[in-house]
Amino acid sequence: MYDVVIIGGGAAGLTAAIYACRKALKTLVISPEYGGQTNLTSHIENYPGFIVSTGWDLMAKFKEHAEHFGAETRTGKVITVEKKGEKQFHIHFDDGSKEDCKAVILCHGKLPRPLNIPGEKEFLGRGLSTCATCDAPLYKNKAVAVIGGGNAALEAVEELQHVGAKVTLVHRRDQFRADEITVKKVKALEGVTFILNHAPVAIKGDKYVTCFEIEDVNTKQKQELKLDGVFSEIGHVADSTMVKDLCKLNPAGEVIVDDAGNTSCPGIFAAGDITPVKYKQTVIAAGEGAKAALECHRWLTGGKATGEYSK
Ligand code: NDP
Repeated sequence: MYDVVIIGGGAAGLTAAIYACRKALKTLVISPEYGGQTNLTSHIENYPGFIVSTGWDLMAKFKEHAEHFGAETRTGKVITVEKKGEKQFHIHFDDGSKEDCKAVILCHGKLPRPLNIPGEKEFLGRGLSTCATCDAPLYKNKAVAVIGGGNAALEAVEELQHVGAKVTLVHRRDQFRADEITVKKVKALEGVTFILNHAPVAIKGDKYVTCFEIEDVNTKQKQELKLDGVFSEIGHVADSTMVKDLCKLNPAGEVIVDDAGNTSCPGIFAAGDITPVKYKQTVIAAGEGAKAALECHRWLTGGKATGEYSK
């Protein structure tokens, strides 16, 4: 039996693993893939100690660090966390297998937010992408649209322009959520078209995307952009189905935690983007992961817990 199973192998989960292992807890990290959202960022300039790094490189270091201190890793998808008794949980996988542990730290992050427009399901992976870092190189000399006004969207524009794509940014407002420094940098790029105050309506094509229909949010006038690809960079949503009967969730599906990472279920802790923590950043997820692991250790060793749910 593991002392702790950490669900999720992004910044929060891998940092939690480093801290758990250094407290000599027998630790297993489970994730469908390692690196989380950070993997999808081509250049991180705000992780202290690394003036610039690719998300992939930074996360590879996190994983190496966790394994160095003894964390075991398993690739897989968890479907349910079952509480069997005091300090006893079963972690069930989609292939029917399970792992046993005394405590759980949820760090499973979020999934790309769906556009909920016609053509989305049909063309996902066939011209519609949610990962510019993964797919941008396929679009050299091609026309693409990026949807969104946050850091991810603006960085996707930058990446696509860099590989030689002809990029149009479509955003539903005329204000951006992205950092000002990024907006300024992207506005200065050559050959990028901005279509503001327009919402996505439909993605069309034959075998692959050929057209993106958008609508002016004020006049409701529709227009069709002829292009080869659409990058949806509109944020992420939480899926906490695996603990829905054990932990309190907020209306956004995030796992509610106190200031120490305790959830409403003793023995289950949570950290990173799956919690309501403000400012979803790699450095914040890492810090929250460390905190949750320390709190988990306190709980497992009978120490006096500090959080609201532990009183
Ligand atoms: P955000 O939530 O910041 O932005 C999502 C964008 O998509 C918003 O502009 C939003 O519009 C738009 N949007 C949402 N739903 C729809 C929809 N149905 N149709 C059209 N547009 C839609 O998400 P990000 O993924 O950009 O970023 C998430 C977090 O990760 C942020 O905290 C960000 O700072 C961080 N991040 C940091 C990076 C870095 O530091 N290098 C890189 C990437 C992300 P509206 O503005 O109108 O709501």
